Amino acid sequence: MERSSKSANFVLPNTQPIGDLNCKNAFESLTDKEKLYAHYLSKASWNGEFISLIQSSPEAPLIFSLLHRIFVAETPAELKVKAMQSGVSEDDFTAFLVYTCAVFANTGNYLGMGDSKILPNLSKDKFDAVVHSSTAFAADPRVAKIYENVKSLIYVLESRNEMLGFSPNGITTYWSDNCTKEDSDIVNSWLISKRIEPYMCRTFKIEENGQTVYDVKLGSIAQSTKEGITLPLEQYKGHNFRVTRGDYQPLLQQVNENLQQAKKYAANENESNMIEHYIKSFEEGSLADHKEGSRWWIKDKGPIIETYIGFIMNYRDPAGARSEFMGFVAMVNKESSAKFAELVKRAEKLVQYLPWTQAYEKDVYLKPDFTSLDVLTLSGSVVPVGMNIPRYDDISQDEGFKNVALGNVLATINQKDPIAFLSEADQTLMKKYKVKAFEVQVGLHELLGHGSGKLFRIDENGAYNFDEKSVKNPITGEPITKWYLPGESFDTQFGAIGSSYEECRAEAVGLYLSLQPDILEIFGFKDPAEQDDIIYINWLSLIWNGMGVALEMYNPTSKLWLQAHSRARFAIMKVLLEAGEGLVTIEETEDGKNLLLTLDRSKIQTVGKKALGDCLTKLQVYKSTADIEAATKMYEHFSEVNEDGTHPWAKWRDICLAHKKPRIILVQANTVVNGDKVELKTYEPTFDGYIQSWVDRYPNTNIDDVLETIVEQDKKYFPLAFKN
Ligand code: ZN
Repeated sequence: MERSSKSANFVLPNTQPIGDLNCKNAFESLTDKEKLYAHYLSKASWNGEFISLIQSSPEAPLIFSLLHRIFVAETPAELKVKAMQSGVSEDDFTAFLVYTCAVFANTGNYLGMGDSKILPNLSKDKFDAVVHSSTAFAADPRVAKIYENVKSLIYVLESRNEMLGFSPNGITTYWSDNCTKEDSDIVNSWLISKRIEPYMCRTFKIEENGQTVYDVKLGSIAQSTKEGITLPLEQYKGHNFRVTRGDYQPLLQQVNENLQQAKKYAANENESNMIEHYIKSFEEGSLADHKEGSRWWIKDKGPIIETYIGFIMNYRDPAGARSEFMGFVAMVNKESSAKFAELVKRAEKLVQYLPWTQAYEKDVYLKPDFTSLDVLTLSGSVVPVGMNIPRYDDISQDEGFKNVALGNVLATINQKDPIAFLSEADQTLMKKYKVKAFEVQVGLHELLGHGSGKLFRIDENGAYNFDEKSVKNPITGEPITKWYLPGESFDTQFGAIGSSYEECRAEAVGLYLSLQPDILEIFGFKDPAEQDDIIYINWLSLIWNGMGVALEMYNPTSKLWLQAHSRARFAIMKVLLEAGEGLVTIEETEDGKNLLLTLDRSKIQTVGKKALGDCLTKLQVYKSTADIEAATKMYEHFSEVNEDGTHPWAKWRDICLAHKKPRIILVQANTVVNGDKVELKTYEPTFDGYIQSWVDRYPNTNIDDVLETIVEQDKKYFPLAFKN
């Protein structure tokens, strides 16, 4: 099969890097009891991984099941011998392994970072030959059946298959595939009227007794109706709605069994109360219980083992509010955490460096717990470097939150390969300081980025949480005329741009505050010359990401951004480019085959700071005042991928793609209970090692049976996806 240049953008190369998420020392320093606690929480997180898989594409669980069944039956080395006998080349077989690793790592056949489809980098015929030569295929007729169902879906690349998004232009399972953006607006308006936050649900539009019904289905073990959680059919503005529950039932059952075990080894009451509420939340489909669990979690300050689990990340819902299931378990790294603790201690004073007035800051700065963690387990479609949780506005604004930096993830940044688009001198500096500067940026991004700023609200009794008579809009000088109404949150109001807009605010805060010498001192940089290098590399690195890497996450056909952080960095890069005065220069080199980025370090503190500060003020004011219109106008301007002008980004995207490097896949360890001890099992950072880690995690095919049953039940919601 001849592969088109279009499909070439959707494959991962055979040079796909695999890295080791090393946590051995941190894990070995735990007591036996702590290890058991970590073990069962890890198991619960991995059970939840399959919810994230279901939340990817309709076919993703079947692809997982096919590949998992194949490698449970034999090792890659054994399969390779037979595949090569049937005419598969070494390269093609490697491509098959890369595809397998990618599907396992991204929980499905769409990139966790970027939402675009992952195609195997070998022809359909060769893929066929590998599957046909496998022991699983020969031994189990179900494997042939699954393969028959999923074979064309693995390769199909009509424009709607290219990326996640609303039908008819994208793929999603958060909504049945007869739902469009218009349906989501109709559903959101009803949810707001009912004060229901959609974190834990999916929405299916179905025909029933001659009428169209929006079935808002909550993730839960229980399936029966229950007052206060489910809602019977009702009409609102001419449409029919109801809330049901029982989504992901068998998977949440397994999550809860492991949470029950973990609870026995909790270190204190905060932890056991927290787990108890999570269990209840997943049992009932109760968001209120997940919030209650999160409240106990916030109180669990400075734990030895840090963990969080549930429907948390809302990046992949095209409406921006339904959340992907993820779980993590990590050991606190005391040494690195000391820097973050110092940052937290001074946070109240440090927020004053931000360019907005006191009225736009929280009344009381809620000091979070901020730790650096060595991750043991992180399930979900993407492994981030930091998190600010919980995402619930009502808790994080008024009660508190936690920040985590994932130290052993951060340490896996590639420091060897050449860096595109930079001069030799900049590459050298970048390699020297990138990890250090990134630690500063992640710390500021999470703590003072996501952790700062106030939302102006009115409550059910008509009381304002700000002084509506005196507070002014600093951009226009006018009084405040917009705020959040009861039932509205930032996520529901900002919808599709919300995640990215907030990432942009947090990234901009990071850059802006990294200019402060007293902040850099907290991170151990006391020498002014070194401080200057850290600032330079922090800014250069973000601009470099915004120009060189971000555009991979943009679909030129639909003109849509596929990834929140990438769009955010592209927008900041453009803000600094538009600042002019020679701050940032990007020009074509090698007859238009390459680009060169330069940043004038002498202008960062002047031109750069001014442009970024002005932008940051707008980002915050529009967010505080729920001014979606102004926010959208500004954000669309800065994230526009223009066709022409001095910086033709649509054209330059091809240059960027030609230099792209795949995101590293991290091998995670497994824990095994042996008597009353827990052992850590680690793997080589290779394709074989990565696949083995998954086989050890799920050594039999029971999980595949479960996944296949769920796909069968859900099939009716996705007729478009399964038509191929
Ligand atoms: Zn963020």
